[in-house]
Amino acid sequence: MRTEVAIIGAGPAGLLLSHLLSLEGIDSVVLETRTREYVEARIRAGILESSTVELLDAVGLGDRLREEGDEHRGIYLRWPGERHHLDFVDLAGRSVWVYGQTEVTKDLGRAREEAGQEFYYGVSDTAVHDLTTDRPYVTFRSAEGEEVRLDADVIAGCDGSFGPSRGAVPDAVKRTWERTYPYSWLGILADVAPSTDELIYAWHPNGFALHSMRSETVSRLYLQVAPGEDIAEWPDDRIWDELAVRLGHGQDGWELTPGPITDKSVLPMRSYVMEPMRYGRLFLAGDAAHIVPPTGAKGLNLAVADVALLAPALTAMLRKNNTALADAYSDTALRRVWRCTHFSWWMTTMLHTSGDPFDARLQLSQLRWVAGSEAGATGLAENYAGLPIGM
Ligand SMILES: Cc1cc2nc3c(=O)[nH]c(=O)nc-3n(C[C@H](O)[C@H](O)[C@H](O)COP(=O)(O)OP(=O)(O)OC[C@H]3O[C@@H](n4cnc5c(N)ncnc54)[C@H](O)[C@@H]3O)c2cc1C
Repeated sequence: MRTEVAIIGAGPAGLLLSHLLSLEGIDSVVLETRTREYVEARIRAGILESSTVELLDAVGLGDRLREEGDEHRGIYLRWPGERHHLDFVDLAGRSVWVYGQTEVTKDLGRAREEAGQEFYYGVSDTAVHDLTTDRPYVTFRSAEGEEVRLDADVIAGCDGSFGPSRGAVPDAVKRTWERTYPYSWLGILADVAPSTDELIYAWHPNGFALHSMRSETVSRLYLQVAPGEDIAEWPDDRIWDELAVRLGHGQDGWELTPGPITDKSVLPMRSYVMEPMRYGRLFLAGDAAHIVPPTGAKGLNLAVADVALLAPALTAMLRKNNTALADAYSDTALRRVWRCTHFSWWMTTMLHTSGDPFDARLQLSQLRWVAGSEAGATGLAENYAGLPIGM
């Protein structure tokens, strides 16, 4: 089999890349280990930056988002006794949208299907070969058990943090940076209307809490817990009680309304960056090249920003034999990756408690400065609402 771009992974990065390439008339084949139903139901990100929304609009994928998503002007920051609203539109001229990754993936999947995209779901044994030649190829076993060889001009590694692409870059070529944080998030999805109009990020001596949402009837909430926390130790009542304490139930007349929990999971928190994001004819995008802790809501947005750079780079390379953008891709993408890595680390370390009383005083001092100073608030707003793609 032959295509122009072999795309490994049908997450947001892989699907959006196939969409952007097809708008330029470039063929691709998308390979995915999971089923389409699994990928579309996987509960993950929920906040889209303004640049992500603008891009989805521009490529014909914004209609349902605009209809069913929810535009937020900002977020609340709170700690015991205080609650502050940061208005990103006033501060930085940009908003964010609440629209689940599940919905972005469904919109992309539908658009690609309508365009006749060639997909292989349920593949196994994916491996990449001859990356430093101009005839790279991918081998895999199809869902039906057939051994397939897919020849391509270019391979896009959009296979997340567990896929084979990252490991295909030799150690002698790559550099990696990693930070594992000493806490995890216990995340829940609940069938209850959000108790807030915009997200609440809460610092509390017991640990961080976040009140997010997916729709008018579905809430998403998180609690900082110890790494490796046993979820069995957290029956539903304990979760709601602890959320109420940390989010400030009863203060200033604000109340948290509990409801039926439909999903519960513990997520580790880490930062990871791999450089370069290219090796020969293999280009990495999204979680395949970098991971951020979810506190800054950046992972999905970074995946979108990567492929927004990669698609024109591959188009120029394959259609005009001009490799300037492809040669610059890794350096250009990494500028934003490191900005978001810093912002995610900064939000994480400002809001998660370590048990050290000195750290706690520094965090509260920083939160007061962010909430009370226009310069501090604008810095958070600019980064959270998203810097321009290709910054
Ligand atoms: C619980 C949670 C909450 C999050 N919250 C946010 C948030 O609020 N905001 C935000 O911006 N980000 C958030 N993120 C991060 C965001 O979900 C990811 O950054 C995003 O999914 C990255 O997209 P991607 O396409 O690069 O990778 P993925 O979505 O991981 O897609 C990679 C795909 O490759 C497939 N694959 C893997 N191996 C192979 C193989 N060998 N062959 C073929 N296919 C393969 C995988 O099955 C997967 O479908 C969150 C993540 C989690 C886990």
